[in-house]
Amino acid sequence: MSRKIQNVLDVAKNQLCTGCGACAYIDPSIEMIDVLDQGRRPKQNGPLDEEAGMAVCPGAALEHEPERWPAGTIRELAAGWGPVLELWEGYAADEEIRFAGSSGGAASALSLFCLEKKGMEGVLHTGAREDYPYLNQTVFSQSREELLARTGSRYAPASPCQDLGRIEEATEPSVFVGKPCDVAATHKARGLRPALDPKLGLTIAIFCAGTPSTAGTLEMMKAMGCQDPRRARSVRYRGKGWPGMAEVRFEDPGKGEKSTQMTYADSWGGILQKRRQWRCYICLDHTGEFADISVGDPWYRPIPKGEPGRSLIVVRSERGRAILEEAMAQGYIEAERVGADKLPASQVGFQALRGKIWGRRLMLKLMGVPFPRYKNMPMFRFWLRDLGLSDKLRSILGTFKRIFVKKLNKEVPLEAWTPPPPASSESSEAEKVSTSSSKSL
Ligand SMILES: Cc1cc2nc3c(=O)[nH]c(=O)nc-3n(C[C@H](O)[C@H](O)[C@H](O)COP(=O)(O)OP(=O)(O)OC[C@H]3O[C@@H](n4cnc5c(N)ncnc54)[C@H](O)[C@@H]3O)c2cc1C
Ligand code: SF4
Ligand code: SF4
Repeated sequence: MSRKIQNVLDVAKNQLCTGCGACAYIDPSIEMIDVLDQGRRPKQNGPLDEEAGMAVCPGAALEHEPERWPAGTIRELAAGWGPVLELWEGYAADEEIRFAGSSGGAASALSLFCLEKKGMEGVLHTGAREDYPYLNQTVFSQSREELLARTGSRYAPASPCQDLGRIEEATEPSVFVGKPCDVAATHKARGLRPALDPKLGLTIAIFCAGTPSTAGTLEMMKAMGCQDPRRARSVRYRGKGWPGMAEVRFEDPGKGEKSTQMTYADSWGGILQKRRQWRCYICLDHTGEFADISVGDPWYRPIPKGEPGRSLIVVRSERGRAILEEAMAQGYIEAERVGADKLPASQVGFQALRGKIWGRRLMLKLMGVPFPRYKNMPMFRFWLRDLGLSDKLRSILGTFKRIFVKKLNKEVPLEAWTPPPPASSESSEAEKVSTSSSKSL
C-alpha cells in the first residue's frame, strides 16, 4: 500500500517536493530550509494548515482544465506540451540583456517591458545570494540594473513562491518568473487567494529539465578548482553568450582572486543533472504549461560560434499574447513567428519522457511509492507511441532499481544545512563582497 500524503511535510519526506516555497507563502507555520542533497524543503514551526498547503502544492498534484484554455490553442501540441497559442523565436532587443541572459534574455526583456511600459511594480524572481553566491535568494527587482544582475539560469534550489506575499501586498500588479513548478504553484495559489490574483500581471516560466541540489553546485565548484565554498565570490551557471559557460570566481589563498570556467556540457551534462531532485524525474511539466508565457532554448539547430543568444517564446494565454505583441511593437523583444514543430524539435525527449514517466509510475505504484496526482496530462499514449520496446521495459524495470538507489522505499530525513560562513579574504575588495548582507525578501 502506498504511503499516505496528507500534508506538505509528507510531500517533502517522500521526495515529491519541488522546492517551490508556495506552502510557506500560504501557511505562516512553514519556513523553507535547504537540505543539502535534496533542495529547498518545508520545515514546520507551528500548527500546520494541511488543507491550504496541499491546495497550492505542485509536488503533490497538477491538473489542467482544458475547458478553460483559450480558443486557438494548437491542438497538435496540447497533449504533450499543454496550451500553446503561438510560438516565436527571438531575443531581448537590449544587447546587454540578450548577452547576459541564459538563452536570448527574453524572460528579462519581457519583465523589463512590464516594469517600464505596463506600470508594473516589480518582478518576483531568483538571483544569487550576495553573502553565499552559490545559493539562491528570492528577489523583487524594480529596475533594469536589478534585472540585468539577475539574468541567467541558476541550476540550484530556489523557492520563489515563498515570497508571493510581496506581489500580493504590492500596490500595482507585478511579474512572476520561475520554473514550471513554481509557476504551477502560483497558478494554484491565485485560485486560493483572491488578493493575489489581480496582482499577478504576468507569469513567465523558464523551461526546466530538473533542479540539482546544493550538493551538485558544490561538486561543480570543486571540479572548477574552488575546493572551499567559503572562498566563493560569484557563481554563474550559464549566460554571457549562448549557452555560455559556468563561471566561478573565488579567492585562491596566497594567489588572490581567480576565475575558472566550465562548458555547459561539462557542468550540466557531467555534474549537475546527476544531482537532480527525485521529483524532477517524474515531472510532467518541463515547459511551463501554467504560465502566460514560457521561454526556453531553441536547441533545434546548431548554435553558430559567437551567437549572443536566442529564446524560444511560447505564448500560452491571451494575456501573454497581448504583452508579447506590445513588447515587440515597443522594441523590447525582436522575434519572428515559428511553426508548431519547433517546440518538440527544440526539446527533444520531453514528449517521450512523458511515456517513460508512465512506466515509472507503474512500478512506483506496484511498490507502494507515492506519485503525484496528474489530471489531464496524458502519459500512456506517449509510452505506447514514442518508446521502443527496450525503453518501454526500462521505464518500468529500471525504476525498481531507482527505488532503492534513491531511497524512495522510505521517508527521507529533512535536516537543514547551514553553509559555512564566508572566509575572511586577503583582498579588501573581495572582503567587501563576501560580507555584504543578503537582501533576501
Ligand atoms: C534548473 C534549470 C533547468 C533548465 N532546464 C532547461 C531545459 O531543459 N531546456 C531549456 O531549454 N532550458 C532549460 N533551462 C534554461 C532556461 O529555461 C532557458 O535558458 C530560458 O530560455 C530562459 O532564458 P532567458 O534568456 O529568457 O532568461 P533570462 O533573461 O536570463 O532570465 C532568467 C530568469 O530565470 C530566473 N531563474 C534563474 N534560475 C532560476 C531558478 N533556479 N529557479 C527559478 N527561477 C530562476 C531568473 O531570476 C531570471 O528571471 C533551465 C534552467 C534552470 C534554472
Ligand atoms: S512542492 Fe512547494 S508547496 Fe509542495 S511541499 Fe514542496 S515547497 Fe511546499
Ligand atoms: S523538472 Fe519539473 S519539478 Fe523539477 S524543478 Fe523543473 S519544473 Fe520543477
